[in-house]
Amino acid sequence: MSVETITLGCRLNFAESETIARSAPSDEDWIIVNSCAVTNEAVRQTRQAIRRAHRQRPSAKILVTGCAAELEPQIFSAIAGVSRVTGNTNKLSSLATNDVMPPVPSGFMGHVRSFVGVQTGCDHRCTFCSIWQARGPSASLPFEQIRDAVAREIDRGAQEIVLTGVDITDYRGALGRLCQRLLAAEPRLDRLRLSSLDSIEIDDALFELIAGEPRLLPHFHLSLQAGDDMILKRMKRRHSRADAVRTVERIRAARSDSTIGADLIAAFPTETEEMFINSVKLLEDCDVIAAHIFPFSPRPNTPAARMPQLPREVIKARSARLREVAAVRRRHWLDSLVGTTERVLIENDGRGHTDNFAPVLIEGAVRGEVGRVQITGSEGEQLTAVWA
Ligand code: SF4
Repeated sequence: MSVETITLGCRLNFAESETIARSAPSDEDWIIVNSCAVTNEAVRQTRQAIRRAHRQRPSAKILVTGCAAELEPQIFSAIAGVSRVTGNTNKLSSLATNDVMPPVPSGFMGHVRSFVGVQTGCDHRCTFCSIWQARGPSASLPFEQIRDAVAREIDRGAQEIVLTGVDITDYRGALGRLCQRLLAAEPRLDRLRLSSLDSIEIDDALFELIAGEPRLLPHFHLSLQAGDDMILKRMKRRHSRADAVRTVERIRAARSDSTIGADLIAAFPTETEEMFINSVKLLEDCDVIAAHIFPFSPRPNTPAARMPQLPREVIKARSARLREVAAVRRRHWLDSLVGTTERVLIENDGRGHTDNFAPVLIEGAVRGEVGRVQITGSEGEQLTAVWA
């Protein structure tokens, strides 16, 4: 009997899928589909994944959970092969055979990098977003439970821990303090990463850690969403363009080898060409080398869905332009690393990432190896390297 997980969306979902899988009954075949509702495309992919899973393993029971299941359960219960649909509230215990509910979602099976959930839900109301409806208000997990989950993941072989959640900078208003306490409590925690950050919420303690704590890895993914102040306002984001640029300057001043990733939405309703260009320029102004570009798609029951929409062709074309500019910037960055020495953790088949998250291939390297490498070349999306 086996349990398979199919996860869409964010790192928190991945950690939660593992937690559900660990508590599944061992005498039944289950496929856990952990859905995402961040875009219409994500919901479509969830439906497709369920159909494919049922075709491939018709005898397995399918559990559909996650944000899309929370928002539109009826869509999923109607699909052939689906045995159970559970929203987010009870998802972690949805397959458990006893009452013990695993409190902290964590894990990423078989990987040396593990995700530990520290927070879920969101108190903000960005006008494009339905995640806060799917996950409810912001809730931070107790420090002791997070500390124990980190220790458990290290016991299972994790060498890098990524703290994750829906809005982790909201962690009791003090994400920096949480990191400090974790690093102090767990001396084996050599590599700590953070998943997506809301730039306006980064606290002083976190800036201090960026400056002085080498165990906190220097790649920061910011939820920027747009580079135009009017659009940011219409999105109901709480930062301005200047705030975003200032945050990046502060991060780079604290630690100069930090790299920046960002989420951006292309063609939000009412976006003019000029406003769009401000987003394009933000990639440069914030020195973004890893961009996730989302073509705007109106989510049901959101204010942005009621705003004047841009034509599909414009949405497609602007996403493509943003992706193109982002790809060129990334290419330059990867090329600039050739000849440098970087520290790398090998995750699989000779592949790993540098501390600032450049993908590297090292022939013959074994999973779990950590060390300094000399970057020898750059091929496509991949750097090549030899041990230094
Ligand atoms: S901060 Fe905004 S985009 Fe992020 S989950 Fe909350 S409402 Fe959604």
